[in-house]
Amino acid sequence: MKYEQSHPEIRDAVAKLCADFPGEYWRKLDRAQAYPTEFVTALTDAGFLSALIPEEFGGSGLTLSAAAAILEEIHLKGCNAAACHAQMYTMGTLLRHGSNVQKQTYLPEIAKGALRLQAFAVTEPSSGTDTSALRTTAVLDGDDYVVNGQKIWISRTQHSDLMILLCRTTPLDQVAKKTQGLSVLLVDMREADEKSLTIRPIRTMMNHATTEVFFDNLRVPAKNLIGQEGKGFRYILSGMNAERILIASECIGDAKWFIKRACDYGRDRKVFGRPIAQNQGVQFPIAQAYAKMRSAELMLHEAIRLYEAGENPGEEANLAKMLAADASWAAAEMCVQTHGGFGFAEEYDIERKFRETRLYQVAPISTNLILSYLAEHVLDLPRSY
Ligand SMILES: Cc1cc2nc3c(=O)[nH]c(=O)nc-3n(C[C@H](O)[C@H](O)[C@H](O)COP(=O)(O)OP(=O)(O)OC[C@H]3O[C@@H](n4cnc5c(N)ncnc54)[C@H](O)[C@@H]3O)c2cc1C
Repeated sequence: MKYEQSHPEIRDAVAKLCADFPGEYWRKLDRAQAYPTEFVTALTDAGFLSALIPEEFGGSGLTLSAAAAILEEIHLKGCNAAACHAQMYTMGTLLRHGSNVQKQTYLPEIAKGALRLQAFAVTEPSSGTDTSALRTTAVLDGDDYVVNGQKIWISRTQHSDLMILLCRTTPLDQVAKKTQGLSVLLVDMREADEKSLTIRPIRTMMNHATTEVFFDNLRVPAKNLIGQEGKGFRYILSGMNAERILIASECIGDAKWFIKRACDYGRDRKVFGRPIAQNQGVQFPIAQAYAKMRSAELMLHEAIRLYEAGENPGEEANLAKMLAADASWAAAEMCVQTHGGFGFAEEYDIERKFRETRLYQVAPISTNLILSYLAEHVLDLPRSY
């Protein structure tokens, strides 16, 4: 199978690290819904999670394509970067819109691994996909913002020191557009007491460390406002292309993992006296999954190319995320089918990866919302919501 091999040295180093975290490690965590602390620590110590932090702030100052290669390789080796990928793109909000003091205070500590910025709190139970309808408020009181409200599906909060929080600082009835009046706060969760910040884990079909978060008069220093008050929606949007590209890379890694496992099994497993993959009914779905993965990968490379050329590849980043999520899901389905009954056995890891890769049809953005983006912003069709 032909693999695109940008950044071969980085991929090689990531692959070596991943070899210490075999399927058995992930299966054990999956059963207990436990966090892969050792894996995240190893990635942090190796500097992979600070790939996008500039060298002047202690990071490796790598390009987005290098970060994409890291995440793809993690998934290609059967591991799961969902436990920590947010640190790569969440940090971008601070990097692009934070003050110099904020960057000097936090980024070197994050790069060192002394501080974790893994939590990104946007979604709420009542607003869902309609981000601008969120209800969590922050009201200035002296030198602090006082935060009240609730978030849902906020991943990794229990394994993070800092949280990027999107909340409303100007009431909805006082703004001209719904997207105005939202602000980004950097919340240091270590300073919060249990009453003002309550975190409740949500058990999900895969091991994802996601939570509900309740804010009850949580005081956040006003100096932790990122950028200007009221401009938060724009700041969050500005990181979306990078986020889409990084998630698409993980999906491509997953798809390659499923395809490789299906090819290996299809060659080895003999039924009716010959390898099952000698049957076109078995090999064609594998070939189809490969075709989908390669097409998505080409779109991903185009999105990365434009991003690194300084353009704003909204169309390509969204296409790459959607096609890659579709490719990984199609490959997952094919891989289970190729393995017959063994696809359902825990010890093969396929059912676990199948559950894990399903998420990307819904989060961090659902397929429908990407289609809406393409319809409205690329095809100039009327806005549907
Ligand atoms: C495991 C997990 C981890 C997550 N981690 C985070 C996180 O760390 N931080 C965070 O902020 N959020 C996180 N999310 C939230 C995730 O981004 C949302 O679940 C997702 O954006 C969809 O929102 P919703 O669940 O409220 O669905 P809803 O908005 O209720 O939508 C339900 C369905 O309806 C569709 N739909 C809604 N409106 C329209 C429309 N106008 N047109 C067409 N279809 C529509 C959607 O596509 C979706 O399929 C996570 C979610 C999960 C499941």
